[in-house]
Amino acid sequence: MTLSYRSSRIHVLAKPTGAVCNLACKYCFFLSKEALYPDSDFRMSDEVLEAYIRQLIEAHRTPQVTIAWQGGEPTIMGIDFYRRAIKLQEKYRRPGMTFENTMQTNGTLLNDEWCRFFKKNNFLIGISIDGPRELHDAYRVNREEQGTFDRVMHGLRLLKKHRVEYNILTTVNHVNADHPLEVYRFLRDEAKTTWIQFIPIVERINVDGSTLCQEGDRVSERSVRPDQLGNFLISIFDEWIYNDVGKMFVQTFEAAARNWMKLPSSGMCVFDETCGTGLAMEHNGDIYSCDHFVEPKYLLGNILEKELASLVSSERQHSFGSNKKDSLPMECLECDVYFACHGECPKNRFLKTSTGEAGLNYLCEGWKAFFHHISYPMQIMVALMLRGYSASEVMRVLSRERASQERALSKIGLTSPPHVARD
Ligand code: SF4
Ligand code: SF4
Repeated sequence: MTLSYRSSRIHVLAKPTGAVCNLACKYCFFLSKEALYPDSDFRMSDEVLEAYIRQLIEAHRTPQVTIAWQGGEPTIMGIDFYRRAIKLQEKYRRPGMTFENTMQTNGTLLNDEWCRFFKKNNFLIGISIDGPRELHDAYRVNREEQGTFDRVMHGLRLLKKHRVEYNILTTVNHVNADHPLEVYRFLRDEAKTTWIQFIPIVERINVDGSTLCQEGDRVSERSVRPDQLGNFLISIFDEWIYNDVGKMFVQTFEAAARNWMKLPSSGMCVFDETCGTGLAMEHNGDIYSCDHFVEPKYLLGNILEKELASLVSSERQHSFGSNKKDSLPMECLECDVYFACHGECPKNRFLKTSTGEAGLNYLCEGWKAFFHHISYPMQIMVALMLRGYSASEVMRVLSRERASQERALSKIGLTSPPHVARD
């Protein structure tokens, strides 16, 4: 289950409050998006809501429809808005159709009533937490610049109390990137999630000093450095591959395994060859090519004027998606981990290669280090799965191998290396 990336069905992230949020997280690129709609009240009207649900259902050829709510902070709309959304889903449901509502929230406005509603209607909730208190509060603050950790954890406890299905989205930023195991163990042992999505923060500073568009090659001090990202993922991978395979779902690792297995899609648009199947809808019905490109240049149209299905299948959207592959520099095309990375997301491609070609990913160094590091254990895991074993068998194989390495090394008076993964 993913909240923000999916490639097999039409996937639209709806933002019923636009960029409006009750918090003011320092790295939040959505906050600057309020400038796109200067006179708006940032509330989705009933007319847009009904058009959206109807068109989304009509556009689907599959029996399962995902309705993804995001923001800003989507709970600001109030529960009644979502009650109406559920009624509309029933109104337009075709025989055999099932709905999965997902919501990405900061969790701070949740209460028992919200959680009862989520449970009753089978919502999957994504909660944004950046790690334990000091790491979370570094950037995730309210408008008074106070940390939000306690309120988020309160929301999380309520979700657990009502047995609402949830998972966690953690940004990897300049501060928490230096504490990978602290972050991972907190999410696993204290937040008690079994599903984690890591999103690297790459915040580009535009010429005018804003972060409104994906322009310029300067990044904010809050952004993760490429080497930090690589080390962060490598440390967590090493913990996971020996202890948690089959128990903890880390989206980046799952996507890598799918690419190592040569499946048609990694399940994450950033690691697929092309993209463009996950669009974003603003509160007024404007459809943009991607959640990361809510910018005038990428506005496809409005659902009150043009059907969603035709916007999704438009030539413009198609080229947006194929551009992910077509705009790659030679360095990526010749890269030995291209099959796993695919140049990652175009929004981060603002470096020049060693030969001066444009379009190299800012995070390249980190991705390359990570994919090289996991290559050996991934090959073992994939080989096991192709022979009908479960992926978790890899833990036993690697542990045996490590033990025998340790024995051999101790015979010559050396200690073992910290891990067995290799390029
Ligand atoms: S631009 Fe990036 S985030 Fe958007 S769909 Fe393509 S790969 Fe995904
Ligand atoms: S690791 Fe770097 S060079 Fe290789 S595909 Fe990814 S971005 Fe391109």
